[in-house]
Amino acid sequence: MRVAVIGAGPSGIYAAEHLATQYHVEVDVFDALPVPFGLVRYGVAPDHFSIRSVRDKLAQTFDSPLVRFCGNVCIGRDLMPSDLQDHYDAVVYTYGASLDRELGIRGEGHRMSIAATAFVRWYTGHPDAIDFTDYLSQATDVAVIGLGNVAVDVARILSKSATELEQTDIPQHVLDALSHSTVRRVHIVGRRGPANATFTTKELKELGEIPGVDVVLDPRDLPDDFAHASAGNKVVARNLDVMAEWSQREARADRNIEFHFYCAPRNMDLDNGVLVVETMQIDSQGRLTPTGGSEEIAADLVIRSIGYRGEGLPGVPFDEDTNVIPSVDGAVIGLENCYVAGWIRRGPSGIIGTNKKDAVASINTLFQDRNETQVSSAAQIDQLLQHRHIDVIDFEGWKRIDAREKELGGTRNRDRTTIHDRQDLIDIGLGR
Ligand code: NAP
Repeated sequence: MRVAVIGAGPSGIYAAEHLATQYHVEVDVFDALPVPFGLVRYGVAPDHFSIRSVRDKLAQTFDSPLVRFCGNVCIGRDLMPSDLQDHYDAVVYTYGASLDRELGIRGEGHRMSIAATAFVRWYTGHPDAIDFTDYLSQATDVAVIGLGNVAVDVARILSKSATELEQTDIPQHVLDALSHSTVRRVHIVGRRGPANATFTTKELKELGEIPGVDVVLDPRDLPDDFAHASAGNKVVARNLDVMAEWSQREARADRNIEFHFYCAPRNMDLDNGVLVVETMQIDSQGRLTPTGGSEEIAADLVIRSIGYRGEGLPGVPFDEDTNVIPSVDGAVIGLENCYVAGWIRRGPSGIIGTNKKDAVASINTLFQDRNETQVSSAAQIDQLLQHRHIDVIDFEGWKRIDAREKELGGTRNRDRTTIHDRQDLIDIGLGR
C-alpha cells in the first residue's frame, strides 16, 4: 500500500509516522516548500526554542525507509489531486490554513495595514514572505488586532531587542531590520475583555518579562469577580492574575506594550497615524454590544491577528463557510480514498500536540476503510515529476540545508541562521 500525505507540517508528519510505524505503509510526504516542518518552522516564533525543537523529533520520522520527503512540489500546480488519486491507494490532506482573514473596515487596504500571517512569514524566513524592513523604520506605534497567541507573538517580536533575538535562528535580514526598528509602542487591541482572550498564560507572561519594556493595562478593564469571570477555566483565571499584577505596575520604560480591551476596530486612518475603535461592553447576557462611544489609538502600522483560514484545492471538496475540507472521522466527504487532518480538517486551533491525536484518528479511519487499489510504484511518480521538470528536494536535501543554516549561523556566532531565499534553498537542497 502507498499513501501520499500533502503538507509536511506537524499533522502531515504525525500522519506519516503512524502510517509507517503502525501499518508499515510506504508514504510520500509532499510539500510546496523546499523544506519540511510547516508551522514549526514558519509559524512558531524564533524565540520559542523548546516548541521549535519539536522539529528534531519530527525529523526522526524520515529516518524510516518507508517515509520519503518530496519537497518543492506544489499540489494543484506541479501535481494535481487527480494525479495523486492515480498513483496512490490513499491521499491524506494536511496542508493547514495559511491565508489571513480581513476585518472588512475602511482603510484596511492601506499599505501600512498588514496581516499577522504575512508578518509571521517574514520573521520566520518563509520564502514567499513580503519584506517588512521599510515598515519598521516608518512606525513608532503599532496596533496589533486580536487577543490570541499569534498577536502575543507579534507583539513580543516587535518589542524584543536585537541582542535577545540574536540567540534565535531568525533570518539575518530580519534581525537587522528589527535592530533598526523605530517602533516604541505596541498596542494590543481586542474587541472583548481580558477574560475572553484566547492567549495562553505562559505566552502572555512573556510580555511582562522583556527587558526595557513595560506592559500597560487599565485596571478598570479587569472584571470585578475573577472567579465568576473565569467560570472554572483555569487558563482564564491564570491570565487574569497575570494581568491584575501588570495593572498595578507603573510604566516607566520608553518602550511599552499597551492593552486596549473592549475596542472593536472600525476604521483605519493610517495617513494620520490613527486606528479608530468603537468601545464595547458585555451585557447581562454576555453579549458584546457597542457603548456608543469611540476612541482613537495611535497607529502608524496595523497588524491584523484575527486568525488563519484554509483554502481549497481543485478537485477536492471544500466548505467555503468554514474554510475546511469537510470530513467524517477524517474521511473526506464526497471523495474516495481521501482523508484529512490538522488545521485543514478542524480549522486553526490547538497546540502542536493536538495535531498528533487528530492525525492518528484520521489514519485509523483510513485503515478501517482500507481500500487497496492497483497503484503505480514510487518510480512512476518520480518519472512523472521528472517529466514535468520539478526539482524535488528529498530529506537528504533538507539535511544539506540544515547543515548550511548551522554553518551560516556559525559565521556570526549564532547556532543557526534561517535561509529564506527559495532559490538558495533549492540549490543547496539539490547539492548545486
Ligand atoms: P485565535 O486564538 O483564534 O485568536 C484570534 C483573535 O482574533 C481573537 O482574539 C478574536 O477575538 C480576534 N478576532 C477575530 N475576528 C475579529 C474581528 N472581526 N475583530 C476583532 N477581533 C477579531 O487565533 P491565533 O492567535 O491566530 O492563533 C491560532 C492558533 O495557533 C491558536 O490555537 C493558538 O493558540 C495557536 N498558537 C499557539 C502559539 C503558542 O502556543 N505559543 C503561538 C501561536 C499560535 P474574538 O474572540 O472576540 O473572536
